[in-house]
Amino acid sequence: MDIEGGCYCGALRYQAKGDSLFKGQCHCRECQYISGGHPNVVIGMSESGFAYTKGSPKSYRRGDIENPVTREFCAGCGTHILTKAPGMPGAVLIKVGTLDDPSAYGGPQMVIFTVDKQSFHHVPAGVPAFERLPS
Ligand SMILES: [Zn+2]
Ligand SMILES: [Zn+2]
Repeated sequence: MDIEGGCYCGALRYQAKGDSLFKGQCHCRECQYISGGHPNVVIGMSESGFAYTKGSPKSYRRGDIENPVTREFCAGCGTHILTKAPGMPGAVLIKVGTLDDPSAYGGPQMVIFTVDKQSFHHVPAGVPAFERLPS
């Protein structure tokens, strides 16, 4: 399933070709900053099939932790487009809210980092949930 999307202001546009590798819902503390407080929902796509078709993102990595992820976002409107995680080489984890059609996501296949879950977060029934990452 090829997907297309972009940021809130339209300065960034992207295309991701191929099948999804992963559909997740992440409750980690870091995602709570990015999402506004709720878990993030992401779709993992192959990095080789991903390209920005308009604009180029600003990127950010924390310098104070080991193996930080790289976050790419729009410098103009601040929309967070994707994450590249050292633990998932070759994949880009695209924020579902940036898809032109977020309904294409369908729902998560797994829920991760419930260790940081807040009492007002919801974990969908019947979906495998992990305290951190599945081993
Ligand atoms: Zn933007
Ligand atoms: Zn997270």
